[in-house]
Amino acid sequence: MSAAFVEEQNMDDAVIDRDPAHDALPFRVVTAVRSVLGNGDGPYPLHEPEIGDLEAQYVNECVTSGWVSTVGPFVDRLEAALGETCGVSSVFATSSGTAALHLALAALGVGEGDEVIVPSLSFVATANAVSYTGAVPHFADADEWTLGLDPRALKKHMDDACVMEAGVCRAKASGRRVAAIIVMHAFGHPAEMDALKDVADAWNVPLVEDAAEALGSSYEGKPCGSLSRIAALSFNGNKIATAGGGGAVLTNDPELAQRVRHLGSTAKQPHRWEYVHDEAGFNYRMPSLNAAMLLAQVERLPDFIKRKRRLAARYAATFCSVPGADFMGQPPGARSNYWLNTIRLGVKTLAERDAVLAALIDDGILARPVWEPLHRLPMYAHCPKADLSVTERLADQLINLPSSAKLQRAEA
Ligand SMILES: *Cc1c(COP(=O)(O)O)cnc(C)c1O
Repeated sequence: MSAAFVEEQNMDDAVIDRDPAHDALPFRVVTAVRSVLGNGDGPYPLHEPEIGDLEAQYVNECVTSGWVSTVGPFVDRLEAALGETCGVSSVFATSSGTAALHLALAALGVGEGDEVIVPSLSFVATANAVSYTGAVPHFADADEWTLGLDPRALKKHMDDACVMEAGVCRAKASGRRVAAIIVMHAFGHPAEMDALKDVADAWNVPLVEDAAEALGSSYEGKPCGSLSRIAALSFNGNKIATAGGGGAVLTNDPELAQRVRHLGSTAKQPHRWEYVHDEAGFNYRMPSLNAAMLLAQVERLPDFIKRKRRLAARYAATFCSVPGADFMGQPPGARSNYWLNTIRLGVKTLAERDAVLAALIDDGILARPVWEPLHRLPMYAHCPKADLSVTERLADQLINLPSSAKLQRAEA
């Protein structure tokens, strides 16, 4: 056999053989994401705010007016705009989403000696807000499709772990009152509110929405944030609309609204000159400067959502043909803001997931895994919990992809 022949055969092999690396999941996922984002240099952040002329105009108006603190017309205008967007009669703007959630729980009367059921699959603020009241988080499992609390698993768990005593739901193991159930709409996908409400009603426990990620999402035609007794929004820098930092408490209950307003603004009794506070309230009010910026963002929200949904549709179409990576679409009956686009990898180990993340990040695509489940964090490891096997599985399989509205140009 001549050397030339061997050489030629090697070259043929090189052309015919598949590169095994191209069969691997990391390669397939990077290729798919690149086909949506294009071949720019990046990096592509997970969620970048879009701040433009309108934000500058309102912030400038606010500065020029001198009303930069918590009193001023921009806070009122913002609260009215959010009430309109979320279909609620009362909005109280706060300094953060965590503050909003804490305030909502405090206004409901949650405190020392209580437990609050929360999803383990959430951002840490959901459980932290419970802790701040003195109550103990009690972790419940996620649903595979909505990624929010699973109403069927919740019912089963409460049937096992709770008793009803004189109209009050108590956790059997601790004897503590179950004072609330917090539902979180993960990545903007609404949880199954009707079924969750049935469970909560059966146990006479109020539902609270952590709607931090779901501004502009809706469920059965009704906006997230209007689907429970009281809800919290966040306007942190990476949320769909940002105030730099901020949050809001939403409710349709006038009495509860009054309580939120009082507790959230240092529990000061209204008076022309006296400074009298009737309990240890919180200084949680959003400053006007932030409200001005956020008002512009809320006015632009319909455009952000339109573009984010187009981007999501392109991810969805692309991942249809990627074995081992499923795009998480909006659940039935829901319309999602697609805050963070999410795929579920068909992997069995963290190492396999991390190989995908590393390949994306090496390519300038700043993907990230879902949060470490809350029941595994050191400060919550000893809290009561349901069977969390779905959460455990999802935690190893979900990753978020770049989702900024600016990745999708407006269509004519
Ligand atoms: C962002 C977020 C919050 C609140 O966060 P802040 O940074 O305090 O505004 C609460 N819960 C969830 C699920 C969130 O994603």
